[in-house]
Amino acid sequence: MSETSIASLVAHLPASANTVPVLNPSNGKKIYDLPQLDGGQVIEAIQAARSAQLDWAQVSVVERAKALSELHALMIADEAKLLDLLQLETGKSRAHAFEETIGAIASASYFAKIAVKTLSPTKTKPGVPVLTKTYVEHAPLGVVGIITPWNYPLALTMLDVLPALAAGNSVVQKADNQTALTVLFARHLAVEAGIPAELWTVVVGDGEEVGNAITNNVDYVAFTGSTATGRKVAARAAERLIGCSLELGGKNPMIVLESANMKRAAEIAIAGAFGSAGQLCVSIERVYVPNRFKEEFQEELVKRTESLKIGRSNDFTIDIGSLGGYNQLQRVMGFVEDAISTGATVLTGGKQLTDLGPYFYAPTVITNLNPNARMYAQEVFGPVIAVEGYEDLDAAIELANQTDFGLNASVIGNEKAAMRVASRLNAGSVNINEGFRASFASMASPMGGMKASGQGRRNGTGGLLRFTEARTIGIARGLIKLPSRAKQYEKMAPIMRLLTKFLK
Ligand code: NAD
Repeated sequence: MSETSIASLVAHLPASANTVPVLNPSNGKKIYDLPQLDGGQVIEAIQAARSAQLDWAQVSVVERAKALSELHALMIADEAKLLDLLQLETGKSRAHAFEETIGAIASASYFAKIAVKTLSPTKTKPGVPVLTKTYVEHAPLGVVGIITPWNYPLALTMLDVLPALAAGNSVVQKADNQTALTVLFARHLAVEAGIPAELWTVVVGDGEEVGNAITNNVDYVAFTGSTATGRKVAARAAERLIGCSLELGGKNPMIVLESANMKRAAEIAIAGAFGSAGQLCVSIERVYVPNRFKEEFQEELVKRTESLKIGRSNDFTIDIGSLGGYNQLQRVMGFVEDAISTGATVLTGGKQLTDLGPYFYAPTVITNLNPNARMYAQEVFGPVIAVEGYEDLDAAIELANQTDFGLNASVIGNEKAAMRVASRLNAGSVNINEGFRASFASMASPMGGMKASGQGRRNGTGGLLRFTEARTIGIARGLIKLPSRAKQYEKMAPIMRLLTKFLK
């Protein structure tokens, strides 16, 4: 991206003398200097968003949905730019950038399609038939704060910002410093599509300072990030009695059934574990395989992992790109070193690939993982998968559920048998004969986590309605006046008793 295009995107941000350099993870070179806002500037942005929201709430849902449809068309036209930007900031391969972009584009048409029906007032069953009637309206909340991480900046932005806007709210979004340009470009397209500029403000800066300023001042916060930060956001939101949705980390298991074809299972595992170099919340990190197939599965997994092409390229010639930066590299190396020091065997990978760039890491397959190893229970968030054998299926299900997390899970094998296993897994999504994409790609299906993986769900009608507040309208129809004096109650009581008994 040219310097002028970057400057025009950054021009949306309030000025600040304080900047941080943003590096391209694929080569370690500086892309640009990103201004850092302070808490006061964030509060000003929220105040401006609050007054812009009043007008937007008066715009019909049909008009709001039209803007989303237009955005869908603009994103399709600018797909190549979106892919370039995503790769520039995240270091992911073209293939993984494409997967993310296609999902983000689909979300614009999905929310455009469901907005009118989902947000229309619904008639509900009245308490006193004939005498009263009731409706539920879906009122916007006001200013929605959206806090997003760096790993899926386009998809996660669209999946939260678009329903919030469609519901009649304004948005103040904290983008992660590493991937702010992608978010700013998405916003630029939204404005071109007819969303008033003041409705969606992007802010950047120190996570705690900017994040706290948002949670302390908005009417709802949609947070995506680590469980540790999510807990802090939830505590702050609870203190203010505002709603929040939390899309947090995972330690996602895959169970390979006896009925599975081991070659196919290994191929599904590499797609499930190494997408975006494993830096994906729903990525598979542990696989349970029947003991008698463990050797065969491991051989297939290693062979396939070693055949993956790693590197950087703006076309579809590379399977896996770089890690997201220095911190990610340190994190992944730390987990692997700890696993080795506690007795794990590295079957392949387990090393940095310095020839390719500063933060490339070889996709890694591990076995004999000691339960004391940090990665046994904690999320690695990198291209590392651990294989463990099991003797009977109940034990495998118990192992899969033995985690604080509950985001995603996968079952490989006969579909009917896999469905039975799926219903016993404590996870917000379970993918059968797939790692994560079958559920992740469905905009109509709720996405989110059980246990420490989160609270609330994005996508589906619920993903839109979470940005609204129910307002019940009760109407006394005036055919017979409702009682106000004791004697009138006495007269009506027999009729009410009969109605209660027979109409239930
Ligand atoms: P993180 O929690 O460090 O940061 C996420 C965002 O929160 C960033 O924008 C950060 O600046 C901001 N932040 C930091 N401190 C804050 C505070 N005190 N208050 C408010 N905001 C604050 O997470 P990360 O390392 O950027 O992202 C990786 C994590 O996100 C992984 O655990 C991954 O599983 C999770 N994730 C979850 C989903 C999901 O949908 N469930 C999607 C993507 C990533």
